[in-house]
Amino acid sequence: MPIDDNKKTPGTAKKINYIREKMPVQDPSKRKNNFEEVALGYNEETAKKEASRCIQCKTAPCKNGCPVEIDIPAFIKLVAEGKYDESIKKIKEKNNLPAICGRVCPQETQCESLCTLGKKGEPIAIGRLERFAADYEAANVPSNETKISPSTPAPKVAVIGSGPAGLTCAADLKRMGYNVKIFESLHASGGVLRYGIPEFRLPKSILDREVKYINTLGVEIEYNMIIGRVATIKELMQEYKAVFIGSGAGLPYFLNIPGENLNGVYSANEFLTRVNLMKAYKFPQFDTPAAMGKRVGVVGGGNVAMDSARVALRLGAEEVYIIYRRSEEELPARKEEVEHAHEEGIKFKLLTNPIKIIGDSEGNIKEIECQQMELGEPDASGRKRPVVIKDSEFTIPMDTVIIAIGQGPNPLIPQTTSELSIGKHGNIVTNEKTGETSIPGVFAGGDVATGAATVIKAMGAGKIAAKSIDKYLH
Ligand code: FAD
Ligand code: SF4
Repeated sequence: MPIDDNKKTPGTAKKINYIREKMPVQDPSKRKNNFEEVALGYNEETAKKEASRCIQCKTAPCKNGCPVEIDIPAFIKLVAEGKYDESIKKIKEKNNLPAICGRVCPQETQCESLCTLGKKGEPIAIGRLERFAADYEAANVPSNETKISPSTPAPKVAVIGSGPAGLTCAADLKRMGYNVKIFESLHASGGVLRYGIPEFRLPKSILDREVKYINTLGVEIEYNMIIGRVATIKELMQEYKAVFIGSGAGLPYFLNIPGENLNGVYSANEFLTRVNLMKAYKFPQFDTPAAMGKRVGVVGGGNVAMDSARVALRLGAEEVYIIYRRSEEELPARKEEVEHAHEEGIKFKLLTNPIKIIGDSEGNIKEIECQQMELGEPDASGRKRPVVIKDSEFTIPMDTVIIAIGQGPNPLIPQTTSELSIGKHGNIVTNEKTGETSIPGVFAGGDVATGAATVIKAMGAGKIAAKSIDKYLH
């Protein structure tokens, strides 16, 4: 455990504190039975204490880890001084969704991984401070954002998808004075933030608040508009001077093993959409339940798998297994989410690879057959390759299986836009530095271009595209 040492903050007599303030959380025995938020957030005292640890490095390496370029030392200094409303303004210069990013961004592999304090101890809890500043504003500062109306008739830009990429691109374009409209296929905004990430990690009231903020800038969202069905990109281009495609990666991958069509098999995408968007977690208040067995296996090891497992537990499953073919070290999910899953009693069947889902005479799942794996040489991803141990097959009794092994880009727009250049994974090919696609005036970014990634990367891509659209329209 890192401890305070006698090193001084440069130019001051202050000792460097290498220990971060703990995040208060709901007790695991209680929270596994409810959908309320797990992490409870810093209060003024703990936020100030944590912010005061920041040594305000001249080179601020933390800033290089932020895809939306927040001035991290500046906002932290304002928190340390108790100037919370100024602090959130500083964040919002670059980030339109701070309460969301403060909750779900993988800071440990981005800004916090570069924090100077991390070399000898615990890095500054940048994400938790961002969340504090955003939550403080929501609780204490009335919204003073006014609608930004174009002074002269401004060029019209269409944005497809209201996930983090689309929302960010739209807000930035609006600030530059464009006339922006978002077309969203669902009846609600937010993309994965709404239908994927569960309430206990990202309360929907927080998402609503941040979308409302973007609305107050003057960004209009038209719902139930499936671009590629109601209108094609070509048709949109007749009315709009530029188009940004941020349609995400919502196409679930399957294992392609026998038994995947049995009753009780879900893709994580379908399962989480039923629970979050269709509000199965509020059944019977909402009459759209999601069937849930007593023994549940979730195949995969990313954030989507952890979310599915923890949702299954909260819906009443008695035993929930994460089935993952590599070891704990290779789990791609955020470390904090893995820890929370362990605390709540999720069982980890590691180095385990499913090969068959076995049903009963009525077509319902009875058990899942797996093979034991061991780790071999690193593969192309740099992670150790899982190798089958011969004659190691075994079965686990199950009545629900959730497949969470990844998603690909939504195919509708690529399929209905023949001039778009498409990559081998079905992604829209873009110039990473500009977001340009193969069609002049059409830009893309976020998961539809990169494949399933992160909220902040999608936001970064939205920002880059907004700048390029501005340049293109001049
Ligand atoms: P999306 O969020 O997918 O939004 C795309 C939007 O476009 C959707 O609203 C969709 O309805 C709309 N759309 C699609 N097609 C059309 C069309 N034809 N016409 C009109 N609209 C259309 N990332 C993190 O950083 N941290 C996490 O903790 C994390 N947890 C995750 C948990 C789950 C369960 C999942 C699934 C993902 C998670 N991610 C996480 C990944 C992250 O959410 C995504 O990388 C991010 O949302 C991508 O943003 P996007 O705007 O590109 O796409
Ligand atoms: Fe503060 Fe860490 Fe950034 Fe230095 S690297 S300015 S200590 S947050």
